[in-house]
Amino acid sequence: RETIHIIGGGMAGSEAAWQAAQAGVPVVLHEMRPEVGTFAHRTGSFAEMVCSNSFRSDDDERNAVGLLHWEMGAANGLIMETARAHRLPAGGALAVDRDPFAEAVTARLKAHPLISVEYGEITELPREGHWIVATGPLTSGALAQSIRAETGAESLAFFDAIAPIVYAESIDMSVAWRQSRYDKGETEEERTAYINCPMTKPQYEAFIDALLAADKTEFHEGETAGYFDGCLPIEVMAERGRETLRHGPMKPVGLTNAHRPEEKAYAVVQLRRDNQLGTLYNIVGFQTKMKYGAQTAVFKMIPGLENASFARLGGIHRNTFINSPRLLDNQMRLRSRPNVRFAGQVTGVEGYVESAAMGLLAGRMAAAEIRGETLQPPPPETAMGALITHITGGAEAKTFQPMNVNFGLFPPIDAKGGRRGRKDRYKAYTDRAKDAFAQWLAAQ
Ligand code: FAD
Repeated sequence: RETIHIIGGGMAGSEAAWQAAQAGVPVVLHEMRPEVGTFAHRTGSFAEMVCSNSFRSDDDERNAVGLLHWEMGAANGLIMETARAHRLPAGGALAVDRDPFAEAVTARLKAHPLISVEYGEITELPREGHWIVATGPLTSGALAQSIRAETGAESLAFFDAIAPIVYAESIDMSVAWRQSRYDKGETEEERTAYINCPMTKPQYEAFIDALLAADKTEFHEGETAGYFDGCLPIEVMAERGRETLRHGPMKPVGLTNAHRPEEKAYAVVQLRRDNQLGTLYNIVGFQTKMKYGAQTAVFKMIPGLENASFARLGGIHRNTFINSPRLLDNQMRLRSRPNVRFAGQVTGVEGYVESAAMGLLAGRMAAAEIRGETLQPPPPETAMGALITHITGGAEAKTFQPMNVNFGLFPPIDAKGGRRGRKDRYKAYTDRAKDAFAQWLAAQ
């Protein structure tokens, strides 16, 4: 029987190996640690949690990552089952006793009769056989070069530069307005593609003061090798001069305030549509190393965003990831080399849980392919389906940046029968998702 080779025994590779082996397909799991390390990993165990020990919210009724926990449980995911077995008390979050967790995942995989483990770095993208690349945000340099040779330099990033993402419905459109700079665009949709938030001079000055004073996070040691260009944090731009932002991402030119056409804004913050559904907008050019608490406080100073809720906050990290919307088909295969699948954070999802979930899908899809079948991705109403749909098609390829699971990725639910409260609406999302996910599982 044909074998699946998986590169990387992290969150995604471990789950992919388990799923494929449980489906009856032999697996070889290739892991470079402990021979070759990374700046973040400490051990040679599989599924090492490199930073926080939390799988985030475990609320499967009103939280998108909690729903992802539920789906992974329903699909007999090894990562979720083992996390629950090593749970630590943490209120509504699923916190995990990291070392026993990683050791247990390692032991379960090694004990599986269809899984063998080969230690050592894989340095080239293989040409033959069935492969899953699950090498994560710290993919080794040699393999990254080989991936880059296949995908082109513009489709493989070494840093993420994440601008905060706002739920469209939380933007105050009595202050903000839709317009592309200089009304550029062929269609009305393009001419109104951006949402603009105007600032007066005093508002701008106060905003710069807040940026300069905000708490920032430092880079990890070894993280900044080859410092990114062209995506400086906004606070670094502000440090270079109080006017720098006003001549950069906050320049007010080519825009007319639809609510007060006679007033010239001193600066304008622009938000760009982040998904096809139009439910999410990112703040253009606002990548930042500010701490999360500081970000919310500073961004709420922007007129129109006083009540904004954030699908994700900004950040800059060492993160190797491919431009999945451009490169992958909906089976997570490289279009140019379909014997290679990608899974985990290297596909542009973000976080332990999301990465494991993409490993779960890749493992099942690869196993189905060897059986001569095609496993369709879960429907977009589910958390896993929303994520895979986003990375393989829903996200804009041009501005693709890593994404956590969130309800903004789901097809919106109409508030039938009047306006539902947000909590009720989230419950409606998770109810719909659980039904759809159960049907998807039952059809396999
Ligand atoms: P990983 O878990 O990193 O697994 C990839 C595996 O591939 C590793 O074991 C690596 O050794 C191996 N590998 C790499 N290259 C090769 C090669 N060429 N040959 C063989 N093996 C190879 N997520 C959170 O949810 N919460 C956090 O607090 C958090 N903090 C983070 C802090 C840092 C500094 C970093 C770098 C990441 C953080 N993340 C966090 C993201 C988290 O690490 C990932 O989401 C998750 O681990 C990704 O899973 P993965 O399987 O894709 O990659």
